[in-house]
Amino acid sequence: MTERKKVLGVYGAAGSHWVGDGFPVRTVFPSNAVRDLSPFLMLDYAGPTYFKPSDQPRGVEEHPHRGFETVTISYQGSVDHRDSGGNSGTIDPGDVQWMTAASGVVHEEKHGKDFTAKGGTFEMVQLWVNLPAAVKMSTPAYQAILSAQIPEVELGTGAYGRVIAGELNGIKGPARTFTPVSVFDVRLSAGGHGEIRLTEGTNSAIVLLRGEVAVNGSSLLKGEVQIAPLSVSGESVLLEAKTESLLLVLSGEPLKEPVASYGPFVMNTEAELRQAFADYRAGRMGHIN
Ligand code: MN
Repeated sequence: MTERKKVLGVYGAAGSHWVGDGFPVRTVFPSNAVRDLSPFLMLDYAGPTYFKPSDQPRGVEEHPHRGFETVTISYQGSVDHRDSGGNSGTIDPGDVQWMTAASGVVHEEKHGKDFTAKGGTFEMVQLWVNLPAAVKMSTPAYQAILSAQIPEVELGTGAYGRVIAGELNGIKGPARTFTPVSVFDVRLSAGGHGEIRLTEGTNSAIVLLRGEVAVNGSSLLKGEVQIAPLSVSGESVLLEAKTESLLLVLSGEPLKEPVASYGPFVMNTEAELRQAFADYRAGRMGHIN
């Protein structure tokens, strides 16, 4: 019997705001309650939202990132991506895009063409993962992880986890990461329950996107999007669903390095932030062709 990670609290998300004209998101962290989940920097949840058919793709125009990774997980609807590295692709439901901005990427994120034309329900997560100082200025990279590449693990009864990154109950996920990072897409049916092994010494959190789930037999997460940060000590967590539930489980080794961040740049010092703005303005992060 391993010691379970303790639930440090259960918190809601901030109110909805728009990212560009395509993404009505609620920021789950950082918040006053959940400030430090290193290496995770931010999680935005675009809850299920209906978009009418349109001939003009909605989204975010060309903008930069440096010093970290953006992880986009599509649940419903699709996102088209184009970047200054010449990469492009569509993130369909079940797919994950793991973009390593590193020294600098300029990209645009728009609703997919088919989705835009047909309309429908859109639901997505964007997670920001910090990079250690040693690789913040390395060459950008891009991993298009298709749904079929993501292994699914049975966690108990009526409980399944898709392993996007890290290792879930012995099964490894496809994402390449620079430090130990786990991202699990967990689904439970009503009455379903399962145990997830996590690593001692990691920062971890349970993010309920929708449904109703008890963690470790007591703390209840319910409604649209709540987060339960977990203790650094402990090696597992028990999930029991009252209703059909969708969760993300995050776990990672803390970086223990200073963070200087502003907007789309996450560096270690103020001087590096100023350099990031100067490089972007001078066109040194490139442009979308
Ligand atoms: Mn972006």
